[in-house]
Amino acid sequence: MHTVWVFGDQLNRNIGALQAAQPNTHRVLIIESAGKIASRPWHIQRAHFLITSMRRFALALEQEGFQVDYRKSPTMRQGVTDHIAEFSPTHMYVTEPNSYSARQLVASLGIDTTASNQFLCHPTDFAKFAEGKKSMKMEDFYRWQRKRHGYLMEGDQPVGGQWNFDEDNRLPPPKTGHDRWPVPQVHALDAIDQQVLNDLPANVWGAKPTGLWATTREDALARLHYFVNEILPTFGEHEDAMLESNWHLAHSLLSPYLNNGLLLPNEVLDAAADAFAKGLVPINSAEGFIRQILGWREYIWNCYWRWMPDYAQQNHLQAHRPLPPLFTNPKKTKMKCMNTVLNGVNEHSYSHHIERLMVLGNFALITGTNPQQFTEWMWNSFIDAAEWVMVPNVIGMSLYADGGMLATKPYASGGAYIDRMSNHCKGCAYDRKKRTGDDACPFTVLYWDFMMRHQDTFVKNPRIARQVRAAQQLSDVEAVQQTAQTILQRLDAGQP
Ligand SMILES: Cc1cc2nc3c(=O)[nH]c(=O)nc-3n(C[C@H](O)[C@H](O)[C@H](O)COP(=O)(O)OP(=O)(O)OC[C@H]3O[C@@H](n4cnc5c(N)ncnc54)[C@H](O)[C@@H]3O)c2cc1C
Ligand code: SF4
Repeated sequence: MHTVWVFGDQLNRNIGALQAAQPNTHRVLIIESAGKIASRPWHIQRAHFLITSMRRFALALEQEGFQVDYRKSPTMRQGVTDHIAEFSPTHMYVTEPNSYSARQLVASLGIDTTASNQFLCHPTDFAKFAEGKKSMKMEDFYRWQRKRHGYLMEGDQPVGGQWNFDEDNRLPPPKTGHDRWPVPQVHALDAIDQQVLNDLPANVWGAKPTGLWATTREDALARLHYFVNEILPTFGEHEDAMLESNWHLAHSLLSPYLNNGLLLPNEVLDAAADAFAKGLVPINSAEGFIRQILGWREYIWNCYWRWMPDYAQQNHLQAHRPLPPLFTNPKKTKMKCMNTVLNGVNEHSYSHHIERLMVLGNFALITGTNPQQFTEWMWNSFIDAAEWVMVPNVIGMSLYADGGMLATKPYASGGAYIDRMSNHCKGCAYDRKKRTGDDACPFTVLYWDFMMRHQDTFVKNPRIARQVRAAQQLSDVEAVQQTAQTILQRLDAGQP
């Protein structure tokens, strides 16, 4: 008998090595590593989602007739060694793992790998795209992907006459009708969910699972179809908006399933493209959504493989502030925007992209929070976290800790952006227009302070030089810097 070893983020019968496996010739090994589960303080919904999905996938394979060695082991390495000792497989295969350390482990064990189809651009293809280019722009990559895979194309031209409908997708939140987006589907929890919850270590935190996150392929497919039929038509216009009373808006909530294998990217893209072809979805929504998956997701994946392992340790802006206490206890802030997003993370183990980038990430950037500590916190907290996607999004996109390898400018902004794109500022204890005084908005103050602190680095960057010069010309620059120091001291001390 051969063995196919399946990692916890490869839970799909159609992924790589498992695709050709048959119950009469192949046994399946799945390892639940106690060391990994105990290694950090996970959000309870994240730990539950990952483990429950693994256990249910093992059951589905058994129902198909496979012998599954579902092994609870202190470490992954131990699990493999024990499996080999017990079953002496004729041959062992694994699909190319999705993290650098897992690939090292597989290589050190001498196990053969099969190419993965969890992404549509393999790093060897990406190398061809990048060859001879001075800079790798995501937009160029995305167009290349559109042409290669034929999504939203008429011959070699984009459907609708343009590649990118981003301009239509940046509307602020609507003034009324904040409940216009369908509520996410939920399913009832059962005995397996309960067993997993009983098995979790004591240091998990956050609100308990409610059935929001699917843990089987069937439920993940149901979530995909619900999204495409009910929500995708309105995905585009308010994609960047944030609302206190609505945590999901028209976001798909599909990243956890794409990342643990319950869904494959081509089936998600096909479903969206089909709905567009049938005239059910406007072009700005279809293109906006397809760009996230065919463009951003694949681009981030390839940046990870191109730049790891050193990339994860970068700290170009020398940001050394320990993670401010409010991240683990939102009661420690009166900032409405931070408080709302952090409470949302506690409640759902999720926040949408703009909340991650322009509230959480922006705050970590302008406070000079250590990139590795912020990455760790996000990794523990988010339902869809995985090293390949977390590291480039935090180190590169959010914190400019890579010195501009991924993003051409830091995504720093003050209260004005948050006020335009959300309804958080109304009723906040702070005044987003003020940059000095007790009620000055921390985002506004720290944004100007950030520009001054890093003026030498950014004044020559054409994408941000204007903001640096504006900071230099502030009439009250010393008072702003003084206010920034007071705010930072308060944050460090965990004072609201
Ligand atoms: C600081 C920071 C940390 C992030 N950490 C993660 C993470 O750990 N895991 C994760 O999957 N995404 C991460 N992202 C990217 C993005 O925010 C999430 O993929 C998205 O919010 C997931 O929610 P959704 O499925 O509702 O997305 P939607 O808004 O519905 O978008 C559709 C899909 O596009 C893909 N996508 C969109 N943007 C990105 C991106 N920048 N990188 C990769 N894929 C993208 C995702 O697969 C997502 O499901 C992070 C972004 C930032 C700024
Ligand atoms: S005023 Fe400042 S702190 Fe308050 S919600 Fe607006 S941006 Fe956030």
